[in-house]
Amino acid sequence: MGAKMSKAVDAEGREISLSDAENKCYIAPLRCVHCSTELSFTGQYLRQLGDDTVTVSACFKLKRGNVHKTDCPFDLTEKVTIVARESSPAVLSKNESGKYELRLLAVKEAIFGLRDIENKESKSNNPESRPKVGKEYVKSKKQLSSYLSTARQVLKIRAQCEDNREVEDNLELVFNGNRVHWKDFYFMDQDYFRCYTNLQRATINIPIAIQGLVRSTKVVPGKYGERAVLNLISPYRETDDPKVIDTVNISIWSSNLSSFDKFKYKDSIIIFGFWKAGKIDEREGASEKTKGKVYRNRQISMSLLTNSQICPEKS
Ligand SMILES: [Zn+2]
Repeated sequence: MGAKMSKAVDAEGREISLSDAENKCYIAPLRCVHCSTELSFTGQYLRQLGDDTVTVSACFKLKRGNVHKTDCPFDLTEKVTIVARESSPAVLSKNESGKYELRLLAVKEAIFGLRDIENKESKSNNPESRPKVGKEYVKSKKQLSSYLSTARQVLKIRAQCEDNREVEDNLELVFNGNRVHWKDFYFMDQDYFRCYTNLQRATINIPIAIQGLVRSTKVVPGKYGERAVLNLISPYRETDDPKVIDTVNISIWSSNLSSFDKFKYKDSIIIFGFWKAGKIDEREGASEKTKGKVYRNRQISMSLLTNSQICPEKS
């Protein structure tokens, strides 16, 4: 399991940057700057995502069949060990088969526990209803925050991997004693349609993680006052009817109007929590370019319970 890298060394021992590699200024093979395992280079390219064109950055990564040495900082297995060392075993620990295991029930309890604490704190602005803040309360807030911090670190490690298969050999997911497959927990834009179907069929409410690029953030009026909303860039899927396009729209709502202030267009983020699948609605294209087209939209949404549920991919 290897991280994407921005440096490598070539056959003559020169350090090679991404732009050197892009300009073919190196002598193969390329190797890891720390442990000398063989690497490959993928150049920058553009990808169409719905109406948007997004840039996929260049990177060096492990050449097929190679692994980093165990003490290499680019070895993600080592990174999981480091995260586990600093985490509570209640949320991340080694199981009988020697793999690490992230406990999603602890993540769920932490999300709801922190939501309750933050609600109490916001009420405490009013001195009349201020709760007694004891040692137990502070300890519990610290512990629950640490669980979510572990979940965020694990998600960042996953984001560095090529696909779910790469991470599941090293890190398993468990909810209340039952194994959860990574493909049913972590969804990238190419998986959003499957995510919608999974949510519709779900009988158990487990937290899931959705990775995507920010399309917009805004504040909108509602029945119970203003709310902030963040939308991710939606993928399109062609249908048998050339006029009809299938889409999935992902929205996160928050009563804290500044929740999404730090995010801008095309930032990559991962949000984990309890998502809902809404009804499919159809709307006609409004612009000159989309006139006559029908967008068949699947809505996936979530109310943010605590800001700790959002994880910028790079931070
Ligand atoms: Zn290495």
